[in-house]
Amino acid sequence: MTEVVFVGTSDAFGAGGRRQSAIFLRAPSGALLVDCGATTGSGLAGLGIERDEIEAIVVSHFHGDHFGGIPLLLLAALYEDRRRRPLRIAGPPGTEARVRALAAAMSHSLEDREWTFAIDFQELPAGREAAVGPVRVRSFETHHSPDSVPHGLVIETGAQRIAYSGDTGWFDGLPGQVAGSQLFVTECTYRTTQNNFDFHLSHEQLVEKKHLFDCGRIVLTHLGAEMSDRRGLADFETADDGMRLRL
Ligand SMILES: [Zn+2]
Ligand SMILES: [Zn+2]
Repeated sequence: MTEVVFVGTSDAFGAGGRRQSAIFLRAPSGALLVDCGATTGSGLAGLGIERDEIEAIVVSHFHGDHFGGIPLLLLAALYEDRRRRPLRIAGPPGTEARVRALAAAMSHSLEDREWTFAIDFQELPAGREAAVGPVRVRSFETHHSPDSVPHGLVIETGAQRIAYSGDTGWFDGLPGQVAGSQLFVTECTYRTTQNNFDFHLSHEQLVEKKHLFDCGRIVLTHLGAEMSDRRGLADFETADDGMRLRL
């Protein structure tokens, strides 16, 4: 059994008072965090999830609402938890440089500290499956701000396959990338496509394309203001902060 805990389900701006993107997966083989927004530390604490349980953080792309929480999570692991076991941080090409630069920009540099645990960085180039801590991960490129190196993820936790869109606008290859997953967690920032960025999905688009997805269960996250208000009214399940699923 794999437990999926939605730590944060808002768009970049905390719509509806929700926290930014993060999903905690507790698989039989171990636990990982998928994305770690600036508000994820509060989310983990609020939900009673121990940082020390996290074996790996997998990052979809380098926007602040998806990886901005990593520097302070690392410092909390060091100073609050006195962590001993290694922590893996996996993500798109350039992950180590991005995390180090982010930490330095926040005046929380990772250099010149007596780390009690190893931080292992790992790059996940699109299309190549790799072991990441307790799971296997395959990433795929998405249609989103190119400078954020955007990727979606397909995560195998033993018998379960969980797909995550990361941030993306519509592209025709998306259904094929996530086909066969028991759970597809997809971003749905907007209610309609009109007058909105091409780099995010809308509820309108997902309703129109729903028949293309061969996935057991589809759950919407990364909800903007209008979607946050419409939860429970959509043609899909919508996630809420703290929602737990068992697969
Ligand atoms: Zn985002
Ligand atoms: Zn983004």
